[in-house]
Amino acid sequence: MNTIISGNMNKALFVDRDGVINREKDYVYRVEDFEFIDGIMEALKKVAELGYKIIVVTNQAGIARGYYSEKDFQRITEWMCGEFRKRGVEITDVYYDPTHPEYGTGKYKRVSERRKPAPGMILDAVRDHRIGLRQSALVGDKLTDIEAGRRAGVGRLFLVRTGHPFRDEEVPAGVEIVEDLEEVAAKLEG
Ligand SMILES: [Mg+2]
Repeated sequence: MNTIISGNMNKALFVDRDGVINREKDYVYRVEDFEFIDGIMEALKKVAELGYKIIVVTNQAGIARGYYSEKDFQRITEWMCGEFRKRGVEITDVYYDPTHPEYGTGKYKRVSERRKPAPGMILDAVRDHRIGLRQSALVGDKLTDIEAGRRAGVGRLFLVRTGHPFRDEEVPAGVEIVEDLEEVAAKLEG
């Protein structure tokens, strides 16, 4: 019998970290500074129940600047994923970029195709987790997040008001402005 490998792809919600999952502060790398934004657990749980993989994509220029190490970042990431898991939310993967083209030191000072607004981290996730981009969505608090999603070809782009301030008139057409992740969950539920 011929087996036809079906092209079943996963859908994902790509989520920026700072300003979306946790309160935007300068260079958060210690657990005591990491403050979950209200409602984030419930919202991401709902999104996961809709069948989306939750994939975090985050620029971490604080590593480039020498404010903290990749080890520090990995430690807080493990803790963060554990907090989600305790509440029944599985974070499928976390992608980060530790570079900065100007302010980086040593090996971290370079132009990276993964640092948003470049789409590299999203494209890596697509390959690693068989993600179908058109059926996927991205949420960020900066236009650079949105730009990365647009360049990758992510189907729906959400700009959330819980983080970095922005002016509505700067937001490109087609981008959905939302108050919080709960609204993202509601819109994805459609
Ligand atoms: Mg952010």
